[in-house]
Amino acid sequence: MIPQAFDYSAPKTLDEAVALLASGAKPLSGGMSLIPMMKLRLALPDHLVDLGRVKELSYIREHAGFLHIGAATTHHAVESSALVRGQCPLLGETASHIGDVQVRNRGTIGGSVAHADPSADYPAALQALEAKVVLKGAKSERVVAIDDFFVDTFTTSIEPGEIIREVIVPVETSGAGTQTGTSYQKVAQKASGFAVVGIAVRVRIAGGTIIMARIGVTGLSNRAYRAAHAEKALEGRAGNPAEIQAAASLVTQGIEANADIHASAEYRSHLARVYAARALATALARAE
Ligand SMILES: Cc1cc2nc3c(=O)[nH]c(=O)nc-3n(C[C@H](O)[C@H](O)[C@H](O)COP(=O)(O)OP(=O)(O)OC[C@H]3O[C@@H](n4cnc5c(N)ncnc54)[C@H](O)[C@@H]3O)c2cc1C
Repeated sequence: MIPQAFDYSAPKTLDEAVALLASGAKPLSGGMSLIPMMKLRLALPDHLVDLGRVKELSYIREHAGFLHIGAATTHHAVESSALVRGQCPLLGETASHIGDVQVRNRGTIGGSVAHADPSADYPAALQALEAKVVLKGAKSERVVAIDDFFVDTFTTSIEPGEIIREVIVPVETSGAGTQTGTSYQKVAQKASGFAVVGIAVRVRIAGGTIIMARIGVTGLSNRAYRAAHAEKALEGRAGNPAEIQAAASLVTQGIEANADIHASAEYRSHLARVYAARALATALARAE
């Protein structure tokens, strides 16, 4: 299928890109989601602004306890970054689960979160990491917490004319008597690699007790979410097998599960509970 005709701009600076978006154009990053949608005529933009040459959108930097990742940073760059693997291993592990090598070479973190596919991988990790998204408009910039950023299926809080500039995640710190452990566990759709369910876990332990648990879930419902009931059930516990099972059984509480050709709502919910237990056990083992 051939997309309908569109204008194309390839700015070299962020300011040029934002100025073009202010006139109603649509950003193009890796094109891994947008181009197929255009070919299927599910997206009909009149004007695309290719961010591929905006070098100031592609970076991974550490500053004051956080990693700042430019929107145009590819999944491969995240997956293979020593900084990410060392300072925020959950994000690197999650990136390595996305699609196949071609998708990871083209697709970007900004494109993935902007697309807000309910089966995308990054959103689970970004929920568990309590990430922030920096949105730049023509006149101002704002920082949005990830839970406020994802609104619904394919829907975010990006306003017209805004662009994702970067994603901010915390550096994982162990030391001073605490240990952290993380894990991303996923059941992948066979053809695409998208998550039927994906569970990202981040735990911190002090003196044998879980002092912090964060669980992000993707694939199960209309948008990625934090499994707050399960998190609460773990905090203050040792994380023995019975406690892990009890917490994992809560990850679907209050959630309306999706049903599609890949899995019924009941099966998806079952997978979410099983993979939550698996991700929790792995993260706790890594924290030892
Ligand atoms: C075969 C295949 C398998 C895949 N498997 C997986 C998988 O297993 N897991 C997974 O998570 N994903 C998967 N994906 C999706 C992939 O990760 C995409 O890269 C991602 O969803 C979109 O990123 P992109 O950079 O290609 O964005 P694009 O396709 O260029 O854009 C996607 C959307 O984001 C908007 N956009 C892009 N950049 C910005 C920005 N900086 N600010 C604001 N809006 C922006 C665009 O206007 C568009 O609406 C797969 C894709 C394919 C084709």
